[in-house]
Amino acid sequence: MRDYRDAWREYRLLRNLNLLALLVLVPILLAAYAVSVKGRLVKIPVFVLLVFDVAVLVATSERIRKWPCPKCGHPFQFEGSETAFGWQGYNKGFYARKCANCGLRKYSN
Ligand SMILES: [Zn+2]
Repeated sequence: MRDYRDAWREYRLLRNLNLLALLVLVPILLAAYAVSVKGRLVKIPVFVLLVFDVAVLVATSERIRKWPCPKCGHPFQFEGSETAFGWQGYNKGFYARKCANCGLRKYSN
């Protein structure tokens, strides 16, 4: 029997990083609103933080969406088939409790 603990650890890290980036976005947007009437030197660090946070959010979301099932190697949360344009079908997102392709339960070994 294969052990998928390392793969699930990586998945949890990506998921937590994604949620953290989403939560941190709120205070950054509030800070951007607060400094919107201030000078340019105050806006630049907030803008840099905003760009960095959105980049992390997009990158981790994309990695999670395409995260390969440790058992079958197909995208875990994506029910469908691979076409010339990538995976086409239905994305279950965080709510996928088992692999859409092989049925491996989330966080199981
Ligand atoms: Zn699978």
